[in-house]
Amino acid sequence: MGYVVGVDVGATRTRIGLFTKGCELVRADVFETPREGGSAITQEIVSRIRSLLSSVGEKVEAIGVGTIGPLDIVRGRVVRSPNVRLGSFELKAPIEEAFGAPTYVVNDCVAAVWGEYLVGAGRGSSNVVYVTLSTGIGGGAVVDGHLLLGKDGNAHEVGHIVLDYSGRFRCGCGGLGHWEGIASGANIPRAASILAREWSGPETEAYRRALEGLLTPEDLFAYWYSGDPFAEHMVYFLAEVNAAGIASTVNVYDPEILTVGGSIALRNPGFLELIERNMEKYLVCRAPRTLLTPLGENVVLIGAAMVAINTPPNLLRIQRGRW
Ligand SMILES: [Zn+2]
Repeated sequence: MGYVVGVDVGATRTRIGLFTKGCELVRADVFETPREGGSAITQEIVSRIRSLLSSVGEKVEAIGVGTIGPLDIVRGRVVRSPNVRLGSFELKAPIEEAFGAPTYVVNDCVAAVWGEYLVGAGRGSSNVVYVTLSTGIGGGAVVDGHLLLGKDGNAHEVGHIVLDYSGRFRCGCGGLGHWEGIASGANIPRAASILAREWSGPETEAYRRALEGLLTPEDLFAYWYSGDPFAEHMVYFLAEVNAAGIASTVNVYDPEILTVGGSIALRNPGFLELIERNMEKYLVCRAPRTLLTPLGENVVLIGAAMVAINTPPNLLRIQRGRW
């Protein structure tokens, strides 16, 4: 009967799923994204897909990939990545060659919003936005039933919206004051050290770790749950930053449904509530229904599979390839 493969290439982890054409997940594989980056990532993906397929003795009919960006969407390759030094790598051509099946490559949040729109919380809505709060910050948008892609597939790099003019926060991309440069998982330790230097409250454990630049997102939320005042100060600051970023995204796309995913949001549901409470004052649009993605940590994987099963017409035009 043939299967469809979805791939979620993350900065930290890569997930591969074997799906039926009805988008039922049959088998999955999760592994650390090879740190050496470049073609090692693609080679690992090809070999993992091969072993998943041989475990069920089936052929693959189409492959969808949702990846960290930025992208060259015409060639289906990642041109460089601001979060981790993974370099540039080809995805579409080598995967198509290995399996003889059409392969479609989009940004991870674009895959996510496509999945959300077709089989997630966005079913039945024409205007859906997805935002991830994770190692990086990104978004995807379906507007009037149309998936936004842009000339290079980077139409929605909302993580690089400018939210701060103080010059204190530099993003991994080199830009100043970007949302991601303040509030993404990769940048939280640095932002916490900046806030710690300005802090005049009690010298708590979270404060001391922050001063050394060692306050990871996991530690931060653990300290917050244990009542640490500096951790609370930092979490409230991040909630404000994320509220401004998400509200700006909503103001641009005017969605009916806004879903939020990514490890920081999914592991700390109370954090999204805090963000939502701060959003109203930044909104010009009518507030959308806001919720954590019901597709959970598989949102990009499922979305990537849906890109292969129900390929958006504009992507088909861009990445038709040999098929
Ligand atoms: Zn940036």
